[in-house]
Amino acid sequence: MLDERIKKRLDFCTTLPTLPAVAVKIIELANDPDADIGTACQYISLDPVLSAKLLKAANAPLYKSRRVATNVRQAVSILGTHSVIVIALSFSLSNSLMKGSRSGYPANFNHDIFWRRSITSALASRALGEKLAVSFLDDLLLAGLIQEIGILAFAVTMSAEYAQIQLETLDHDTQLKTERETFGFGHDEMGYALLRKWNIPDFIALSCIASHSHPGPKNHGPTLQSCVAVSRYLADYFLCPHDNNKINILVEAAYDWLGMTSEELIDVVAIMEKGLGSIEDLFDLSIYGSIDATTVMAEAKELLMIHNLAKVKDLEEKSQRDGLTGAYNRLYFDDTLRREFNLSAQYNLPLTVAIIDLDYFKQINDTYGHVAGDSLLTAVAFTIFEQIRQDDTFSRFGGEEFALILPGTTLDASRNLIERLKDSIAKINLKVDNEFVINVTASIGVVSNEGGTNLFRVPLDMIKAADIALYAAKNSGRNRIVEWHPSL
Ligand code: GH3
Ligand code: MG
Ligand code: MG
Repeated sequence: MLDERIKKRLDFCTTLPTLPAVAVKIIELANDPDADIGTACQYISLDPVLSAKLLKAANAPLYKSRRVATNVRQAVSILGTHSVIVIALSFSLSNSLMKGSRSGYPANFNHDIFWRRSITSALASRALGEKLAVSFLDDLLLAGLIQEIGILAFAVTMSAEYAQIQLETLDHDTQLKTERETFGFGHDEMGYALLRKWNIPDFIALSCIASHSHPGPKNHGPTLQSCVAVSRYLADYFLCPHDNNKINILVEAAYDWLGMTSEELIDVVAIMEKGLGSIEDLFDLSIYGSIDATTVMAEAKELLMIHNLAKVKDLEEKSQRDGLTGAYNRLYFDDTLRREFNLSAQYNLPLTVAIIDLDYFKQINDTYGHVAGDSLLTAVAFTIFEQIRQDDTFSRFGGEEFALILPGTTLDASRNLIERLKDSIAKINLKVDNEFVINVTASIGVVSNEGGTNLFRVPLDMIKAADIALYAAKNSGRNRIVEWHPSL
């Protein structure tokens, strides 16, 4: 997996940051399955800054410990050996890279954005893990933090070429695509190579690559990679908030990678909000600077809420529709007709209703089977949908019977449309089993309420009239339109 080209680049790069001795020791520990608390304490105590940070971490609300740690050993026993190693690694990597030499980077490399992004995604991936109640919260912190480390590696090993790439671009996915197009590989593979060079344990290094790939099946439950992947989209939003489109992309990614809803994402943002202070403090970096983080978080939650409401509306709308054809159901038809009928009566507005019944449909089922019959019903509905206006209501009235409500439309004005519908239904050629082509025709009964004639007292009177007209159409040979008239 380690591409030789990338490896060479890294091996011959003289400006690549070197890790401090303590970090190297901690990485050794991280790779040692028998690492014990004593050795961990010993290494960490060598670095006073690191010791202070771990103490702070153990006492931070993030870890919800009821005990207070006053020395490294207590901190280690609160956090656990594995967590201590991972957290120590997070601090010592970020500290040495953030505060280390800035020579070798392209002049336009924006360190501030890079670290704000990294720490936001560390916070976000940990919050996602907390919401999903996973056990590897600290692995998430580290993996989220270093998932974009390949960008640093690119910047120092290919300074001149990388400067060309839009470093200011805040859209992560576009940047990755440009890298792959320019260099043949992206910062995901670059990051993996660098982390392996530093001997960072494979499961962390690999998450760099996996989180930049495609979501796997959701039924496997949340993984390190899927949380880290979604954290990137949270970081994308929080680095450049107020962007509705970024919220949409985030909601999609959360669903694709974790099966998470926008409602659950609101909780994740709330967890991030609570952890923000601790994380900023621990990493010595202010993510929002002078901007009020509370406002930013509140806005994110609001946008997610709006997104969620839109989805609920979508579901409501779906439940008003017939599952097979997507046309409105009978209940919706009845409600709409009642409303339109009243408006028509009250304001003397024209209203036209048409009932469309497919001819000899029973024969079609008998000859080609119900499945083919269903496909034909769907095809007919599709044809009608294509031609009606937004104000028109198209519904499935019963089995192979459809109904149209055309508000504001006189009988005369409806003729063109109804004629066209009849012809386009007859033109449907539905191929079944790659063998038969089936066709169908429709008989249509039309009725209008117009000119203040008061012919109809209640909505049902219009339906009855349309039915009489339909019956006449059937009786006079089918595949035709009959307009209701009192003489019928
Ligand atoms: P006509 O021209 O007189 O309307 O003849 P027809 O055969 O269309 O009328 P009839 O009312 O006798 O039969 C309607 C048929 O429509 C019977 C039923 O099997 C079929 N049908 C109703 N709903 C569905 C459905 O959801 N799927 C399928 N495949 N067929 C359906
Ligand atoms: Mg029929
Ligand atoms: Mg029928």
